Amino acid sequence: MGILEGRRPGPALVLCGHLDTVGVAGMTAPFDPVVRDNRLYGRGAQDMKGGLAAIVGAVRRLADTGGIEAGRVIVAGVADEEDASRGAEALVARWRADTARRMPDAAVVTEPTDLRVGVAHKGFAWLRVTTTGVAAHGSRPAEGEDAILRMGRLLVHLDAYDRARQRQPGHPLLGPASLHASFIEGGREWSTYPDRCDLRLERRTIPGEPPDEPVMEISRLLEMLVEEDEDFAAAVELVFARRAHEISEDHELVRRLCAAAVAAGAPGDPCGVSFWADSAVLGEAGIPAVLFGPGGAGLHGTEEYVRIDDVLVCEDALAKLARSLCV
Ligand SMILES: [Zn+2]
Repeated sequence: MGILEGRRPGPALVLCGHLDTVGVAGMTAPFDPVVRDNRLYGRGAQDMKGGLAAIVGAVRRLADTGGIEAGRVIVAGVADEEDASRGAEALVARWRADTARRMPDAAVVTEPTDLRVGVAHKGFAWLRVTTTGVAAHGSRPAEGEDAILRMGRLLVHLDAYDRARQRQPGHPLLGPASLHASFIEGGREWSTYPDRCDLRLERRTIPGEPPDEPVMEISRLLEMLVEEDEDFAAAVELVFARRAHEISEDHELVRRLCAAAVAAGAPGDPCGVSFWADSAVLGEAGIPAVLFGPGGAGLHGTEEYVRIDDVLVCEDALAKLARSLCV
């Protein structure tokens, strides 16, 4: 972390990016950056060393040109966003514990948005469903109960349910929520009725959904299956979840960042992004948070790059935002 203090007390702006990247399987030289045609190639170039470079550049630009009037600009490089966001969680916990100071007033997370202003993103929930049966010799249907075929009944309903949801408009910027089956496991051997089947699902959530909705919708389907067949036995469990995030397009931070971005030559229009980001952790802590970062391609892919001119425009826009907010 680094802090640029203003000349007197005032609003605190956090510029936040994650330092970690996803893995490098399938890449030939992931950490030997190559510059070609206004692009910088390498793992993490767009997700999100480019955004971090824009943050550091913006604060250096502010410091070199007389600093800021009031308040503070906080640079936060956080760990672990690609896994459990322990970095952003620790940051928020530290601010909560600091009773002498109020929470920061605004946050920009510089994840890649093609220089648009991300005001909404999806959340996700990881769920586990287990169906149970009775193990028995394969020749004895009167004794065996097939847990895998039971799971099949649920899968048919989940598929129909999600296809119906995809026909709904959903969130104005993000579209409908969605669900997919990630893993399925069950069975012991060819000649035995399976007594257990385990399904792991991912549900992508949209702002405004109640936090327990992913579990509740599956519970409702399971109840329906029990009504059809009283022997049907299954349970659903929430393993891990992250909330979706949204900030009003009329919020002062959004309006000021859009103006700063346009002044720097960026599109700077409000948009939604599909991926989850640390902005949700900051937002849940009560800090108004948006996403704004450079364009490029290949996030989590084997060829990743960031557009260098976008990094510079992002830097300029962040510096302009700090000058507009920290007064
Ligand atoms: Zn990222």
